[in-house]
Amino acid sequence: ESSSTRENNVAKIKVVVRKRPLNKKEHAKKEDDIVTVSDNAYLTVHETKLKVDLTAYVEKHEFCFDAVLDEHVANDEVYQATVEPIIPTIFERTKATCFAYGQTGSGKTYTMQPLPLRAAEDLIRQLNRPVYRNQRFKLWLSYFEIYGGKLFDLLSDRKKLCMREDGRQQVCIVGLQEFEVCDVQIVKEFIEKGNAARSTGSTGANEESSRSHAILQLAVKKHGEVKESKRNNDGNEARSGKVVGKISFIDLAGSERGADTTDNDRQTRIEGAEINKSLLALKECIRALDNDQIHIPFRGSKLTEVLRDSFVGNSKTVMISCISPGAGSCEHTLNTLRYADRVK
Ligand code: ADP
Ligand code: MG
Repeated sequence: ESSSTRENNVAKIKVVVRKRPLNKKEHAKKEDDIVTVSDNAYLTVHETKLKVDLTAYVEKHEFCFDAVLDEHVANDEVYQATVEPIIPTIFERTKATCFAYGQTGSGKTYTMQPLPLRAAEDLIRQLNRPVYRNQRFKLWLSYFEIYGGKLFDLLSDRKKLCMREDGRQQVCIVGLQEFEVCDVQIVKEFIEKGNAARSTGSTGANEESSRSHAILQLAVKKHGEVKESKRNNDGNEARSGKVVGKISFIDLAGSERGADTTDNDRQTRIEGAEINKSLLALKECIRALDNDQIHIPFRGSKLTEVLRDSFVGNSKTVMISCISPGAGSCEHTLNTLRYADRVK
């Protein structure tokens, strides 16, 4: 196919690590910063261990990734290192996915929040370029959540959604509302509306949202002059356009939540098992993509099934692994880095 042979220098899979600064709590506990970054690609974790005679020693764990962003790197630079290079490829039928992975409190939401807005800004600018003008491209936005293996529309009062597969390997989320967006202010309003609708429960925002995956999608569609089909799906005309390319931004559940499988609370256990399953399935899918495997094991979880069309054809994946620098997070940090290491 023509577009797959077209040259672009964007790697199919990119693994980026972002280290956040020590926070107030960690400062108050006088936690050491145990993560050092060098040359924007290397990272060392200094783990303090005890010998049998209880004297301490430091074990160093070294890693190398496509990029390592330290605590001085601002969100703008994160955008430039991750999503920006992918934007032009969206018009060449690329399905892209950008994940934030890491333990709760490591900076996933902080990292992901500004990305779709910046991407929308760039996509809108692109589709208004003279070369694309007469192609009738439009940008569509949707925002939903996977919580306990179920899908909820964050832009229509958490309406419960279900997934359907058609005969042509297309996954369709029945009833998911998509909105045409032609300026960034509107995009911003939708993002805020969706954020406000994320699972919060009674225990506070971070606690509950750490058990859900939030998925924001921006799709470029081509709208032909031919009759805009009147197929009325929830009054949603979005499907009358044909998807050219899209990008999904995924704020994953806290990676430590996958270990909640022995919790006393039954619901927490079920959610933990689901999260564990989805993070494992995600890793397997990305690895399969990387090896150009024909068979992508997307059926392993709801998350990967939903992303099925992003795992075939021209796909691009950016994984941003977020880490906390404090000594108290050492184990989680090492787990996150090992996960990222296996993905790359
Ligand atoms: P997560 O979504 O992984 O649970 P958050 O994004 O909510 O974590 O981040 C936890 C806290 O740390 C928030 O108060 C956030 O503002 C702060 N934070 C995260 N990353 C950074 C960063 N790179 N620079 C400054 N503050 C950050
Ligand atoms: Mg978060």
